[in-house]
Amino acid sequence: MSTAEAASHLRENPFGLAKSQLRRVGEIFELDPNLIRVLSQCKKAVEVSVPVAMDDGSIEVYLGYRVTHNIARGPSKGGIRYHPDVTLDEVKALAMWMTWKCALMNLPFGGAKGGVICDPKTLSAKELERMTRRYTSEIINDIGPERDIPAPDVGTDGRVMAWIFDTYSMNKGHSVLGVVTGKPLSVGGSLGREEATARGSLYCIQALMVKNGERLSDSSVVIQGFGNVGANLARLLHLEGAKVTAVSDSLGGVYNPNGIDVPAAIAHKQERGTLLGLANAEQVTNEELLELPCDILAPCALEQVITEENASRVQAKIICEGANGPVTPTADAVLEDKGVLILPDVLANAGGVVVSYFEWVQGLQEYFWREDEVNAKLHDIVARAFEEAWHAKAHYDTSLRMASYGLAVRRVAEATTTRGLYP
Ligand code: NAD
Repeated sequence: MSTAEAASHLRENPFGLAKSQLRRVGEIFELDPNLIRVLSQCKKAVEVSVPVAMDDGSIEVYLGYRVTHNIARGPSKGGIRYHPDVTLDEVKALAMWMTWKCALMNLPFGGAKGGVICDPKTLSAKELERMTRRYTSEIINDIGPERDIPAPDVGTDGRVMAWIFDTYSMNKGHSVLGVVTGKPLSVGGSLGREEATARGSLYCIQALMVKNGERLSDSSVVIQGFGNVGANLARLLHLEGAKVTAVSDSLGGVYNPNGIDVPAAIAHKQERGTLLGLANAEQVTNEELLELPCDILAPCALEQVITEENASRVQAKIICEGANGPVTPTADAVLEDKGVLILPDVLANAGGVVVSYFEWVQGLQEYFWREDEVNAKLHDIVARAFEEAWHAKAHYDTSLRMASYGLAVRRVAEATTTRGLYP
């Protein structure tokens, strides 16, 4: 991230927020307070020092984490984030959300997350590789196909996953495809994984449109973040005929009320590394972008961008949380009062972990599926989760977020009770 982003994006402690959300879910769904206490903590948190030989001959020492929140339903699963603002409590919150996300999708996984405090944009490819291989070696006894399976998150991609896969495999003496997901296709990745998170968001938006009797082709969309999730979501929504009126990356946004030329924006970003300067669009800041008039607002960058401070100025009717935790609980309440419908992160961005699950299954079986099979199976799982959450929302007369979390927490609680507290 650029130095302009040196101040952390985290205004409130994310783990504190995640725990208070869990307590609230416990009340609404009348879950055993003993269980809520158990689920409020992470099973394991590992902190590692990652010394890296830099290209100029100096040695830089980075701090890395890997946190497992819960494994009651299966091995833990969750991305690895490379970002200067990573904190242990952020990783813990993200690990807890992964537990709920996997449970909501009914995947046989628990939740985990990892992170290294670094700015990947300032590292050379060789430095990034050395850092990734050393970080992997430091957590090698904590990960594995039956134990804990990393994946990409902010600042990491298929290339980083390939280095993790290779480092782990070299240490085991044979290729272990199931140790990590989000791998490139050439080393056991899954077709459809790259765009899976955005595709899952698209399926949720489409399902909601059907419920509301609205059409995507009549809708305008604003998207914050133009990485894996944001850029793919912009592309998919554009293909479906929606009007994408604004997009942004960390340097700022571009806006055209008549619609952005999304393929041109993708090409511009690829060529210049920024969206700024895109033809036929005016420049907006990331703060202004969130308050633009639109039907659907999709925050697809970082946490806590919609807060108590700006929530009342959000004009969207629907918020689709491509990012994890972009809306704070206080903002949630303001938006609910305004009648804004939020497609919560655990539902709206779960497509990535669903296809990661498919990649893991394909890797274990060493038998790979066609892309249309992957997308059809993804649709089945996301559409079913949406229906279940929609039904719970009506049944408990609560928000879609609380309904989704409630279903998920109940499943994890049930698995925990069924297994029994060890010893
Ligand atoms: P990415 O690194 O590919 O892209 C992040 C994007 O956000 C970049 O365009 C970056 O410029 C932009 N950004 C960074 N800081 C910003 C700021 N302050 N304001 C506006 N834009 C900013 O990351 P990603 O994989 O697309 O992840 C984005 C979000 O989606 C994260 O919250 C992540 O946890 C979540 N998520 C990702 C996946 C996945 O499969 N990649 C799955 C589920 C959830």
